Amino acid sequence: MELFKQVNFNVLLLFIFLPHGFTKDVGYFWHVTDFHYDANYSAAGDPTNMCHQGNGSHDNVGTYGNYMCDSPWNLITSAIQAMYKIKPDPDFIIWTGDSVPHVDDSDLDPDKVYMLIGNVTNELVSVFPNTTLYPVLGNHDPYPANQMPYDTDNTAYYKGILEKSHWNSVLGVNESRHFHNGGYYSSKISEKLRLIGLNTNLYYDQDRLTKDLPDPAQQMDFLDKQLQEARKHNQMVYIIAHVPPGVFELGSGLTWFYPKYNKQYLEKLEEFADIITLQLYGHEHTDSFRVQFDAEGKPISMMLLAPAVTPWKSTLPGVGANNPSIRLFKYDRENGVAQNYVQYYLNLTAANIKGTGDDWQKEYDTSDVYALDELRPAKLHELARAFTDRSNKLFQHYLQYNSVLWAGNTECNETCHLHHLCAITQLDYDNFRTCISGGVTTHHPTQTTHHHPHRPTPQPQVPTYMFYLIGGLAAVVFLLFLVVACMCLRKGRRLRAPRYAKFGSLSLNS
Ligand SMILES: [Zn+2]
Ligand SMILES: [Zn+2]
Repeated sequence: MELFKQVNFNVLLLFIFLPHGFTKDVGYFWHVTDFHYDANYSAAGDPTNMCHQGNGSHDNVGTYGNYMCDSPWNLITSAIQAMYKIKPDPDFIIWTGDSVPHVDDSDLDPDKVYMLIGNVTNELVSVFPNTTLYPVLGNHDPYPANQMPYDTDNTAYYKGILEKSHWNSVLGVNESRHFHNGGYYSSKISEKLRLIGLNTNLYYDQDRLTKDLPDPAQQMDFLDKQLQEARKHNQMVYIIAHVPPGVFELGSGLTWFYPKYNKQYLEKLEEFADIITLQLYGHEHTDSFRVQFDAEGKPISMMLLAPAVTPWKSTLPGVGANNPSIRLFKYDRENGVAQNYVQYYLNLTAANIKGTGDDWQKEYDTSDVYALDELRPAKLHELARAFTDRSNKLFQHYLQYNSVLWAGNTECNETCHLHHLCAITQLDYDNFRTCISGGVTTHHPTQTTHHHPHRPTPQPQVPTYMFYLIGGLAAVVFLLFLVVACMCLRKGRRLRAPRYAKFGSLSLNS
């Protein structure tokens, strides 16, 4: 009995001293975005007209898609099948919107829009029937495009998505009730982790309906209440949405939100930065990230922008196409911290030549290529600091990934480099402009100038295994000490038998 108790105690100690890495409870989830399903895509279509069939016949533009066009159904199913083949049993799937193609409103109508979104929803549900799906709307998902209704008394559109696009079978009763008010909801991933799905399209400056409102669809109020609740219950939070705040890293510094909403939203994120562990967005179709800083320049929050499934080449100047892509996260179920993600992609040119959409490959793993052992604001800030040198290998990798290895990606000159740096680190519009002009911003975590890009001083890094080694050694030493102490006690007990015999019999009876 005594021996049993001692062993038990030692096991307990082992757990206390075991480095936390060995006991992590990790799970996986998918993030997929911007399918832009074009039901009118034709392999004999006109690439200058979204690969739609016209009067003249065209060469085969591809069974799995074309860089000039949105996704054919073949590409949608190929992407979802690839998700299933790579990880059939994730904890959940995050899907950040834009299912409708980049075509004129005159080529669409509300029912077509509901149908396209419903088709993608059904495909995800039929391939992953037992996996929770967390969807949010994109700016292309309302009709007309970008015009997201904001009035909680006029909810026909959201009702249509729930009923006609079948989101009411995907979202729970509570989530659907909130969604009905303006396309947002909150859900419990676990007791410790809350997910807030937002409709940030309400803040997009292409939405004429929401130009100057105090709080479109009362979403900011909802967000605030949910974050307060999460804090009260010691929950960590994931925020998922389509349009990110801040500025596009490509082109000429395009901003996404109306300035007022950008400020409001960033302030809310800063206020609750201690509990928001992850923010995931789509919309840009490129692979990038953002780091938010407090007034002292300390990195407090981060946003991960996932590239699209659609390969469509943007009409914006200076913006290209991309290979279709999907992203798999590994995360700590205890605190929600993402350990890494692996980016997968389909080489569209090769897929069309081979005539198969089965060949999805790993593009990169953040834990390998960026050597990040966890995805946290401070770690992404370090990565951004490495980018200040344009010739830095990490920045060169990032550039390739930004378009998902699209071959048309050209050389990134000084202006292009500066746009990337400033977009990544300056979410506030004024600070972004100052950063671009080479000046010093009020928050200048990445000091950048046109003429003196500096290489950040490499920080001495202690390898992770050293912590494990030291932790392990400490545990062994402590256990040895304990064994010796126990032996001494037992020796002493033999000398004073009556006193300890009493305790011994008590413990046997309990
Ligand atoms: Zn999109
Ligand atoms: Zn979008």
